[in-house]
Amino acid sequence: QSNILLIRSFMLLFLSCVTIRIKLCFSSIPYTLKALPLDGHFNFDEVHLAAKDFGNRYQFLPVAVLHPKSVSDIATTIEHIWQMGPHSELTVAARGHGHSLQGQSQAHRGVVINMQSLRGPYMQVYPGNSPYVDVSGGELWINILHESLKFGLAPKSWTDYLHLTVGGTLSNAGISGQAFRHGPQISNVHQLEVVTGKGEVVTCSEKQNSDLFHGVLGGLGQLGIITRARILLEPAPDKVKWIRVLYSDFSTFAIDQEKLISAAENTFDYIEGFVIINRTGLLNNWRSSFNPQDPVQASQFKSDGRTLFCLELAKYFHLDETDVVNQEIENYMSQLSYITSTLFLSEVTYVEFLDRVHVSEVILRSKGLWEVPHPWLNLFIPKSKIQDFADEVFGKILKETSNGPILIYPVNKSKWNNRTSAVIPEEDIFYLVAFLTSAVPSSTGTDGLEHILTQNKKILEFCETAHLGVKQYLPHYTTQEEWRAHFGPRWEVFVKRKSAYDPLAVLAPGQRIFHKAI
Ligand code: FAD
Repeated sequence: QSNILLIRSFMLLFLSCVTIRIKLCFSSIPYTLKALPLDGHFNFDEVHLAAKDFGNRYQFLPVAVLHPKSVSDIATTIEHIWQMGPHSELTVAARGHGHSLQGQSQAHRGVVINMQSLRGPYMQVYPGNSPYVDVSGGELWINILHESLKFGLAPKSWTDYLHLTVGGTLSNAGISGQAFRHGPQISNVHQLEVVTGKGEVVTCSEKQNSDLFHGVLGGLGQLGIITRARILLEPAPDKVKWIRVLYSDFSTFAIDQEKLISAAENTFDYIEGFVIINRTGLLNNWRSSFNPQDPVQASQFKSDGRTLFCLELAKYFHLDETDVVNQEIENYMSQLSYITSTLFLSEVTYVEFLDRVHVSEVILRSKGLWEVPHPWLNLFIPKSKIQDFADEVFGKILKETSNGPILIYPVNKSKWNNRTSAVIPEEDIFYLVAFLTSAVPSSTGTDGLEHILTQNKKILEFCETAHLGVKQYLPHYTTQEEWRAHFGPRWEVFVKRKSAYDPLAVLAPGQRIFHKAI
């Protein structure tokens, strides 16, 4: 009896020791972080904001948020975590502006680095024959625009929305209506400074540490944290002619879009498009910012219930070129086959044009409609399959577009560098199709989250069964098998790069591609 009691008390003692050790191991994490010599600081209390993103659907609480003041703060933190080895569960996510959709910039029980703390004193414009700007990885594109404009310059390639960080968009691709000519933002970077998953600070470019340079671009934050980027600039225009025309037939719309992006001469500076399904009074909604060229005919145009395709174009110009530009536009437009009464024109400043989505943001915020769930779906579709896709999706799977725009525009693959980590279809021209839906919180109707997610699933299933060769942009998968299929033949290279630059899988756990071994 006494022996049994003795064994039992030994076991209890052993178990409580193990529990205390485990508890100590987790609770001591903040203390080891606190002890690091930093210019900035950690916050261990107000971490809930780092568990939110634009998608508003995933929330993973970190143990700490680092507000770095210097690159060495980031390197010191990551090196410390690297030295803790595979037995520590700590991971690190860089958070740009948190405009991810499914928790990609979050780190469950890890450390989130608030990259925007690095902004400010680092931005420097270098004018000259090949102008560029050096910026922090946490800099917002809107700030880069304002700074470079002081020198009459601006970046060449944009996203539609500028309140995103350099590190965030370069980790994906960064695409907008200029990509057909200049390529995505990842094609317009000369040099990067990166902190790897081992805490090493590495400068890289096409010529220097080129494997890391290419790997980080479009690398979903997996190989390193971008702390500085050198971005190409061009002379900035004063103003923009902003044009919208409508088509009722998808193939005519696509032929015109492809004609414009393939033209040898520089026609327009920006080419996009969007789909309008079952919208009434469409033209009246545009009146505030767009003027029809022929107001009488346009007022007779009825969009009711139809699926329409809107081609959106922009031509940049300087004030002394107005007449020439008007003539050029007239010439280019005469070669297109849109519905003639639907030519809508607007003239805005360059900043107004580039920062256009922010205007909608302000309106949506004021109505409480910005911080709602955003079940977005972004796809790259090969040109040869875009008609099949359009036939099935617009009007069949999707019966209306009341809860967000559907963008659709082609880009040229030749403007993408195939050594980067970005995954795109295997055709010379492919389309971006972006379903930018907002869900009405707690609605169970067609504008509710469940309904939109079901629609997204139907679209993805159709792409799969019809073998369209589609790739997701801003990809989201839950299993490594799916990631392997996403990368296709590029998977091996990506895995090799991961084991070279972040062997413990410390970085960007929110992408759910690799898992830290513990
Ligand atoms: P975050 O969401 O903070 O981070 C995204 C990912 O990048 C995370 O995995 C994060 O860990 C990693 N990361 C962040 N910073 C760094 C860094 N410095 N180094 C390494 N990794 C880092 N995309 C387009 O291409 N074109 C568009 O027109 C476009 N429009 C958009 C409009 C809106 C309203 C929104 C919400 C998104 C849009 N996007 C667009 C998508 C956007 O480019 C991506 O979601 C981008 O990642 C957001 O940038 P962010 O700074 O908020 O990044």
